[in-house]
Amino acid sequence: MSGTRIQSMSNNSTQSNSRENLFSPEHELFRQTVRRFLEKEVLPFHADWEREGRAPREIWTRAGAAGLLLPDLPAEYGGGGGDFLHFAVLVEEIATALASGVSGFTTHSGVVAPYLLHFGTEEQKHQWLPRLASGEVIAAIAMTEPSAGSDVKAIRTTAAKVPGGYRLKGQKTFITNGWNADRVLVAAKTAPEAGRHGISLLWVDAHAEGFSKGAPLDKLGQKAQDTTELFFDDVFVPAHDRLGEENQAFTYLMRGLIQERLMVAMRCASLLEASLGWTVDYAKERQTFGKALIEHQHLRFQLAEVKTLAYTTRVLVDHCLVEHMKGALGVKAQ
Ligand SMILES: Cc1cc2nc3c(=O)[nH]c(=O)nc-3n(C[C@H](O)[C@H](O)[C@H](O)COP(=O)(O)OP(=O)(O)OC[C@H]3O[C@@H](n4cnc5c(N)ncnc54)[C@H](O)[C@@H]3O)c2cc1C
Repeated sequence: MSGTRIQSMSNNSTQSNSRENLFSPEHELFRQTVRRFLEKEVLPFHADWEREGRAPREIWTRAGAAGLLLPDLPAEYGGGGGDFLHFAVLVEEIATALASGVSGFTTHSGVVAPYLLHFGTEEQKHQWLPRLASGEVIAAIAMTEPSAGSDVKAIRTTAAKVPGGYRLKGQKTFITNGWNADRVLVAAKTAPEAGRHGISLLWVDAHAEGFSKGAPLDKLGQKAQDTTELFFDDVFVPAHDRLGEENQAFTYLMRGLIQERLMVAMRCASLLEASLGWTVDYAKERQTFGKALIEHQHLRFQLAEVKTLAYTTRVLVDHCLVEHMKGALGVKAQ
């Protein structure tokens, strides 16, 4: 299976030709590094991870040593020193390989790390980013709650001010990397009466007293992705572990969600292309009524429609990617 996945990645003929102008030879070298890593370190073990609902911690330090984590963060903080296209390569290759066991690398690298980079103090950045880049510390972000998903301002988790810090109380769900996480960036209400103007981000130690984790959630897909519930029973969070200004997190999250949503779109575009590739391979191989499936005219019409969808999706997503790199991708319709 692993060989088939990797082969489909390299034979993918559904991608827009303009991509050759987007990714440089250096990005393509990084793509080869990610593919080799997936082929050797991930896919041979993936079926076991799917049964367990998560990958083992060791894969994180291996990925760190191979330069897969935080590829686009500045080298002075331990990152790969690349640009957003390096991160895009990571997202695309993990999606194309159906390697859900390591899709949390992208949340860790492209969601949590940028919050630290943009809103952390120099001390926080130097303390944490190199450890995220090496895989020594596994990070998660926790916004969603059982009664608050799309509507972030409806969260009920609170962080009450106490001498020296905060006391965190509440519950989160669907948290990627939740089980393996050492640190979780938690959105909590520090001024519950102020609605969206009363939310702060806390960089919480997952080994602290009162912090507990649920079993891996049983999902329809992404079976090896570590996705869990988290519970905070009066967890003490020191004041120096708040990220950014108090009560300003809603603005930070709306900004961060632009990249997070783009990441999900990049993942979907790659999955669509890869699924089409596998289907075409199968249709060429499978014989019915004396000829290969692909020779049946109606099937060719259907495949042409899916190819059109995959192509137009890719063109749109690449456009957004370029806009994002210029800092021009916003929350408003263009
Ligand atoms: C595999 C997986 C990993 C995840 N990882 C994380 C993570 O690491 N951290 C984290 O915080 N969260 C995570 N999430 C949660 C994810 O961000 C939420 O599922 C998402 O925000 C949607 O929230 P919800 O599921 O509560 O859906 P709801 O908000 O209840 O929405 C249900 C449906 O209603 C629609 N809807 C909602 N509001 C409106 C509206 N105003 N107008 C029209 N339609 C609307 C939605 O589009 C959706 O189709 C993860 C989820 C999954 C499935």
